[in-house]
Amino acid sequence: MRSTYKGKVTHRSWQHLPQELVRLIVTHALLDISANAYVPKSWEQRDQWLPRMVFNVVRDTDYMENFMNVCPPWFAALETHLFWAQAAAVLDPLDALLSLQRTPTRFSPYNHFRYNILNRCCVPCRVNAPHTSTGLWTAKRTAYTYVLGSVPVCRDHVKDRFCGICLRDATDESVLENEDGETWSGIDATCRSCRAEWLLRNCDSPREREALGGRSLRSVDWETRQAVDTFVEASEGTIREVRSLALERHWLRRNTKIAEMLNHAVAASRYATREEAAHSRTSYTYVDGDNDDDLSDADPDLDNADTDDADADDADLLGITEDAGGVRDLAINDWARNRILDGHWYSPADQWQAMLQSPMSQSAEAISTAVPAIHPCPWNLPPEEQTDAEARPHPSPTMVRCDVPPSFPLCTAAYEAFKRQLRAVLFPAMRNIVRKIVIECAVDGVDPCIKAARYDVEDVARELRDVGVWYNGMDWVTRRQNGERERTERERAKEEREREERRRREREERNEQRRERKEESVTDDSSSEGKSDASHTTSPVLSASTLQTTPSPPPLVLKKGDTDEAQVLPSPTSPTTLTFPIAISPVLDSPTLIPSIPYVPVTMAQLPPLSIDAFKAVWREACAPLFQCRCTICERAVQKANIEAGSTLVPT
Ligand SMILES: [Zn+2]
Ligand SMILES: [Zn+2]
Ligand SMILES: [Zn+2]
Ligand SMILES: [Zn+2]
Repeated sequence: MRSTYKGKVTHRSWQHLPQELVRLIVTHALLDISANAYVPKSWEQRDQWLPRMVFNVVRDTDYMENFMNVCPPWFAALETHLFWAQAAAVLDPLDALLSLQRTPTRFSPYNHFRYNILNRCCVPCRVNAPHTSTGLWTAKRTAYTYVLGSVPVCRDHVKDRFCGICLRDATDESVLENEDGETWSGIDATCRSCRAEWLLRNCDSPREREALGGRSLRSVDWETRQAVDTFVEASEGTIREVRSLALERHWLRRNTKIAEMLNHAVAASRYATREEAAHSRTSYTYVDGDNDDDLSDADPDLDNADTDDADADDADLLGITEDAGGVRDLAINDWARNRILDGHWYSPADQWQAMLQSPMSQSAEAISTAVPAIHPCPWNLPPEEQTDAEARPHPSPTMVRCDVPPSFPLCTAAYEAFKRQLRAVLFPAMRNIVRKIVIECAVDGVDPCIKAARYDVEDVARELRDVGVWYNGMDWVTRRQNGERERTERERAKEEREREERRRREREERNEQRRERKEESVTDDSSSEGKSDASHTTSPVLSASTLQTTPSPPPLVLKKGDTDEAQVLPSPTSPTTLTFPIAISPVLDSPTLIPSIPYVPVTMAQLPPLSIDAFKAVWREACAPLFQCRCTICERAVQKANIEAGSTLVPT
């Protein structure tokens, strides 16, 4: 500024500005400030204009004094700014203290306001009773307030006797002790209006505001509603707690079936109560009347209405039902299970990690790492799933885009549920993989431990994409032989076909030659011509033997029953009895399909570390029997178990 000052007298600067100009500058600055400065919601209603003016005057005094401290000439210029006369009139509307200004020493408007009025009045008294002279000249000490800083207060207005934010007096019963030291440190009491206002003010995102129930703070979720109500009405808890709870509940409602489950639970418990009441011969009207008390005003007193909409129901009933039934746990587990069944094996814990690294792009990361998943046995899916398999990708985009659980405890719960469900879904199949390894190694005479230890995550996933491991009691030896036989048969059929083709061509050539010879000797003999045609149609190309050997894909042989063909082929080692290093389940005549089969990602390479860990943990558990004690006592126990289970004999 100094450098841009141009004029004949260069030693002059802005401290030499004419006094009127300084006052004009500050008037405009003050206008700007007051347009954006904070006014508590308590005083924002139209009819609260007097308290609002008092509050604003005290607030703006600070700004004015900042300007006055720029330099001594500015101080002098602003001492007579009109603001001070205005301020004095607002704080002392009845001119009770005017006589003080008319002393022989003559106070400047600033000094009169600052020292005769503001420093000696109780600001809470003035804000709450602006049209009287209450609180003038009664200041005894100062108290810290959240917005206005330290203000003088009277003897009655000790710190917990007024709202530390808007200065509302504690005669209003909504002014209660402040429990939220994080948000308002050093404030002893807050009022209802300020608590509600700041709860929404501290929201970071529209989603958070939505979770809290919008401007009216009426969330659809009963627990959120309850937490908000306790905080706003009773001043219990902190803003952070309420916010994180609201976000958790919001997430649960958006992503899990918690609302539905609650409805069912409530309906069931309602039904039970009603049954009880009916049994105890209480009149039905009484039960109805009782229920009406429980229902909120939003619910019409129709009989079926209470089962339709649990949101409007009494929070206590919901709370009891939710706690007792563990509905929240059920909902999270259900969510995790659906995620795994749909082939999205990206754990919530990894999502959390991704969020910590880049808060904005956590879902982007999940989307970029999502790989398509395929079903091991699509023919087993329900018909509606089968038909639109192409139209509906797996994992579904909504599943992939699901937000991370918003709080650490909820995310931990979700991760635990994920691990539990991953185990529940994959363990039966992984145990079958181990069983397959053990059986095949026993036939080949190889150590299954070494083979199993060589399996990496990708190998296990590849096995999981094979339908065989989703059958319990699969006869792996026969299956492998069938696979081999299929291969050899296909090769044999190919050779056969080539041979037939060669033979046919030779015969055709011969026929051709014969015909030519015939044409030479007998010019028109239709009968011989016909005969030749007939021989052509019944050519061995289409004979039954050829049809048999054409490689129409043989049905998957799953039963050990039809082994008559398999017996023709010599098995690799053809042992009659095999011993297994671990106890395995016996071969079943008709292997049974495991009930819930997930979509399996086409590759595991994209999965982040914690998801892989969860996957590995299940595999490790499935392999555990292979790496148990190998002393003779234990080995004998295993053999005994296998003999009892009937899994020692492997049909060849
Ligand atoms: Zn007071
Ligand atoms: Zn307040
Ligand atoms: Zn071993
Ligand atoms: Zn042992």
